[in-house]
Amino acid sequence: MMRTAIYPGSFDPPTNGHFDIIKRSAKVFDHLIVAVGANSVKKYFFAVEERVEMLKEIVSEYENIEVSCFDGLLVEYAAKVNAVTIIRGLRALSDFEYELELALMNRHLNREVDTIFMMTDERYSFLRSSLVREVARLGGDISDKVPSVVERYLKRKFNSQ
Ligand code: ADP
Repeated sequence: MMRTAIYPGSFDPPTNGHFDIIKRSAKVFDHLIVAVGANSVKKYFFAVEERVEMLKEIVSEYENIEVSCFDGLLVEYAAKVNAVTIIRGLRALSDFEYELELALMNRHLNREVDTIFMMTDERYSFLRSSLVREVARLGGDISDKVPSVVERYLKRKFNSQ
């Protein structure tokens, strides 16, 4: 049986920390769906189309990775695409409380879908999208923090503002 996992997130923008979790999850599961959140009440920096485009370019060489987007309940989307597992990444302790809450709520909503956590690589333990955006906005070097396609999108966004 093919085991599909889903890695949901805002990916606003995707970082090397996300990419690391993506690559490692794709080794553990037969098929990985990277699912970009398009929550209508959340305000994003990049449009959902842009976040999907960036991720598609990042994973283009990986045959068992797919990129999609979703709105509404994650567990419903997971069930629709036959994912048996939700992947989430954990950095410092500060991630834990929020992630536990989310995982327990998702389990309450659908007991068939489990959440599995993957620990960040030490190189990325303090890397988050909002910090990358801020440094890029101020013109700082983020070339070793994000895939080159993301650097390109950030430059374009900030130069055109
Ligand atoms: P969300 O808004 O859903 O938290 P993010 O795009 O910030 O979306 O993150 C998606 C998932 O990836 C979360 O589980 C988050 O903890 C994890 N993550 C984010 N940055 C890193 C990183 N540098 N290393 C490992 N996991 C990360």
